[in-house]
Amino acid sequence: MKPLTEREIRAAFVNCTKGEAKRLSVPRDLADRPWDDLDYLGWRDPQAPDRAYLVTELADRPRALALRCPAPASWQTRRSMCSMCLTDHTGGVVLMVAPKAGKAGQQGNSVGTYICGDLSCSLYVRGKKDTGLAVRFRESLTVEEKIRRTKDNLAAFLTKVTS
Ligand SMILES: [Zn+2]
Repeated sequence: MKPLTEREIRAAFVNCTKGEAKRLSVPRDLADRPWDDLDYLGWRDPQAPDRAYLVTELADRPRALALRCPAPASWQTRRSMCSMCLTDHTGGVVLMVAPKAGKAGQQGNSVGTYICGDLSCSLYVRGKKDTGLAVRFRESLTVEEKIRRTKDNLAAFLTKVTS
């Protein structure tokens, strides 16, 4: 994806207030992120471990989501699969919940998804990061096809949050 500035990222949030978007923590090392290899940039809030954020591009516009990670549960120790990139992990997938945009969100509605806990789907898909699992689920898809699938899943999630 195209590199984004802090200001662009803050302006891209769709499911939190302008004040929250202004205050939340954005990585300081944006210039050093591997943008060429990213379908989305995701990060944890260093001040609030139960919060995470991600920014991606949808129809050529940056769109960012504020996410909550509920307390870890027992299922996290089992192998599970990321709903975005379909990578298999042992304990590396977390449930993240996005409040819905607009009125629906103010009324407490949210959308959840199981996603790589380190928000590194793009790197797993490209084989730039490994889950450490000895036996990996083999797929016949090419990297390009996996990237497309990850982007489609992400777009579908964004659409659910904003619909
Ligand atoms: Zn993933």
